Amino acid sequence: MKTGSNGLSYPFENRPTPGEIIEVGPGIYWVRMPLPISLNHINLWLLEEQDGWTMIDTGMATEDTKVLWEEIFKRYFSAKPVKRVIVTHMHLDHLGLAGWLVDKWGVELYMSRAEYLTSRVIAAEISSEPPESTVDFFRAAGIDDVALNEFKARFRSRSDFVSPLPTAYKRLVDNQNLQIGSHQWTVIVGEGHSPEHVCLLCKSLNIMIAGDQILPRISPNISVRPNEPDANPLQDWLRSCEYFKNKLDEDVLILPSHGDPFYGAHLRLQEMIDEHKVGLKKLYDFCSESRSVTDVFPVLFKSKINSGNMVIGVGEALAHLNHLVASEDLKLDTTSGIARYKQT
Ligand SMILES: [Zn+2]
Repeated sequence: MKTGSNGLSYPFENRPTPGEIIEVGPGIYWVRMPLPISLNHINLWLLEEQDGWTMIDTGMATEDTKVLWEEIFKRYFSAKPVKRVIVTHMHLDHLGLAGWLVDKWGVELYMSRAEYLTSRVIAAEISSEPPESTVDFFRAAGIDDVALNEFKARFRSRSDFVSPLPTAYKRLVDNQNLQIGSHQWTVIVGEGHSPEHVCLLCKSLNIMIAGDQILPRISPNISVRPNEPDANPLQDWLRSCEYFKNKLDEDVLILPSHGDPFYGAHLRLQEMIDEHKVGLKKLYDFCSESRSVTDVFPVLFKSKINSGNMVIGVGEALAHLNHLVASEDLKLDTTSGIARYKQT
């Protein structure tokens, strides 16, 4: 078992190659699909039952991913069909092929209500030009016209990565128990990365399918979205980290959507809390002078923010700034048309 510098340990030597599945627990299989973005893969999970399979997350709606799914179905699913599709949250690497899979197998989609409804809203939104309020949101953050025009030109391209969503779904709620095969799985809902993110914990096996709620190496993006500019998702996130520390045993095996399965959930949760608290402190100090959202990028991010990652950059910077405004450490001044933040 490999151990990382932050104390996490990784029990699996091998990762599944494209089109292959690897058993990581009794009847629990790991699938790895490519992504056409800088984060180059996503982990998806299959639960085997006597009479079928449950799929957890779907991959982006690309031809590559469809071909790989077909290969997996041919190789492993000839004896029994897919029974249900569960999606942890609305991001397109998780949700992208949900509609295609649900149609293909004639089964139902399981999601939390906020994730399902928000994904319907986003799917409708990205099929046309960005709304004026979205453009204003980035302009107020200090994004210049060149980057804004690139953003506008690219806005609709995201719709390529999601197949049409089912018009009905089955709702998952926090603490709900699902009997899947011979094991019971409990839904645990996290917030902050997305509105009502579903994780699945099997207490008897001490394994949790974590989606993006707990990742071993990268920090899940915590973003303010243009349609709720005053949101405080970082508060939701920090509260969720504490919630998961209470819910999980120290030695639970975490199956994350990116990176490798690992032990050390409590260490990782605390590390993520600490990272954000350090970010908040640095940001507060930097705002001894009045600062715009783009001014604070170098304080929060190692990599340069350009038009390609500006949506995430603005969203994450605002998550921290809004948190400090909500705690009355910073005050917001919008009189110039650009939002500016300064210590109270
Ligand atoms: Zn996500």
